[in-house]
Amino acid sequence: MYSGDSDELQAARAQLVSYSARLLADGLAVGSAGNMSVRAGDIVAITPSGISYDDLRPEDVCLVALDGTEVAGPETPSSETPMHLAIYAATGAAAVVHTHSSEVVALSAARSELPAIHYAITGLGGPVRVAPYVRFGSAGLAAAAVAALDGRRAVILRNHGAVTYGRDLAQAYDRALLLEWLARTYRLALSYGEPAILSAAELDEVTAETRRRRYGERRGTRS
Ligand SMILES: [Zn+2]
Repeated sequence: MYSGDSDELQAARAQLVSYSARLLADGLAVGSAGNMSVRAGDIVAITPSGISYDDLRPEDVCLVALDGTEVAGPETPSSETPMHLAIYAATGAAAVVHTHSSEVVALSAARSELPAIHYAITGLGGPVRVAPYVRFGSAGLAAAAVAALDGRRAVILRNHGAVTYGRDLAQAYDRALLLEWLARTYRLALSYGEPAILSAAELDEVTAETRRRRYGERRGTRS
């Protein structure tokens, strides 16, 4: 029996509403396209299907169990709930952002991967794969997204959009913005000719240096 929201779930509902407004303002979605979720323990708070982000209120956010059972919410959970749940099951994600942003959709129709046009792509785990096209809302799309996410924090869905995840909604959302920026930058680079792409060794070097600096920062705050 569902016995009301925990503080964590109330915060998740409010956060999903405020980030939904950003999704429109940042051009990552139009109308009610795309969807976002936050995991709080065994419950996932997810944006509902078919409500414009402009009209979304905290009480409209749906709650589902990790097995897909609906826990609370008068609205129908996002049609991509199976994909969100599959990503929670396969990764350590605490939040998932799914966009229909134009740069990634355009790239998805023409390329099989977003290559390392800039070293910031290490924040997504490296070059971002384009998963094969499967109909929205299907178990097949969830499986294709999870497979293409292997070792990555982002995936592009062919002729559809993109998905990013993170340790919280802020990180997952920042990654969605980064992915859109990288796709746009890659397109701009292509307009000059064939762009230079960073090698796996160059990306490994960036990842190692990022880790070293983070470790240094943590040591610094302790002393
Ligand atoms: Zn979608």
